[in-house]
Amino acid sequence: MSSGDIPPNDDPSPEEVLEALQEAIINNPRLADMPVEEIARQLVLEAHLHQEPPLALVEVALDNIDLPLYLVEDGPKADAELDSCDACGLPSVSLVELEGDRVCDRCDAVFWTAQMLQKSDVADEAEIIATLAFISQNKYENLRDEKNRVTFSQNFDQKYPSFELIRFVEDIPVIRLRKAVAEVVRYKGSKLPQRIRLRILSKFARQDEVKELYRRVLEQENLPIAPDSRGSVSWQYADGHLVVDVGPREDIHSTRLEGLDKYPPRRFAFLSHCRT
Ligand SMILES: [Zn+2]
Repeated sequence: MSSGDIPPNDDPSPEEVLEALQEAIINNPRLADMPVEEIARQLVLEAHLHQEPPLALVEVALDNIDLPLYLVEDGPKADAELDSCDACGLPSVSLVELEGDRVCDRCDAVFWTAQMLQKSDVADEAEIIATLAFISQNKYENLRDEKNRVTFSQNFDQKYPSFELIRFVEDIPVIRLRKAVAEVVRYKGSKLPQRIRLRILSKFARQDEVKELYRRVLEQENLPIAPDSRGSVSWQYADGHLVVDVGPREDIHSTRLEGLDKYPPRRFAFLSHCRT
C-alpha cells in the first residue's frame, strides 16, 4: 500500500491546539465562554491555526489552559456587565427574586435546601452540612422527576464514592461523608488491580469497618491472598485525609501485564487482612 492511499491528516496536534487557544484567549478573553464549535472557527479566523481542529481537542485544551491571571481573579470581562447575586456577591447570568433579594441559582438552591431540611426531621449536623455543600457544588439535576431520582441513586456510589446517599427529602438528596472508602488502583492499560487504596475520611472510622471494606474488595476482585509477610503497605496524607495503599510485595512487570486477565497467584498475593 502506498502512502497515497491514506488521506493526509493535517489535524493540528493537541499541543498546537492548546498553544493556539492560549494565545487566542489572551487577545480575546471572551473566547473561553463561547461554544467549542465557535472557538474552533475563531482559532482559524484569527490565524492561530491553519485548519479547524477536532472539537474534542478544543475541549481538552479548554480543560488544560492556564487562564491569564486577571481572568482568574476578576472573572471574564463580560461579568462586568452582569448583575451580582445579593447573597454571594458573584456576577450571575440569571438572578431570581427571593424575599426582596436577587440571588443566583446556586444560592437559591442552598437557601431552598436549608428551608426544606429545617422542616424535615434531618437533625444530624454531618448530614445537614454535607447536603448543603453538595447542593452548592453540583449541577442541578432535575430530581423532582421520579425517574431521575432513580438514576441518580443508582449512579450515586460510583459518581460520589466518598459520600453516602441516605434518603431523599422531597427532591433533595440527603447525604453524608463516608468514614472510609476503598478503591481499586489498576495497572495502567490493564484491568488488573495493582493496589487497594483505603481512604480514611473521618477520625471516627472504626478499624473493623475499614477491614471489612478491604475484605469486600479482595472478594469482589477475586484477588489471591497470603499471610501478612508477603504484602506491601504504604500510607500518605492527601487532600486532608489518610490514604493507605495495600498491595502485593512486588508489582507485576509491565511486559507481563498484557497477556494477563487474572492475577498470577503465589508470588503476587495481597495481605489476607489489613491492619490499620
Ligand atoms: Zn449567589
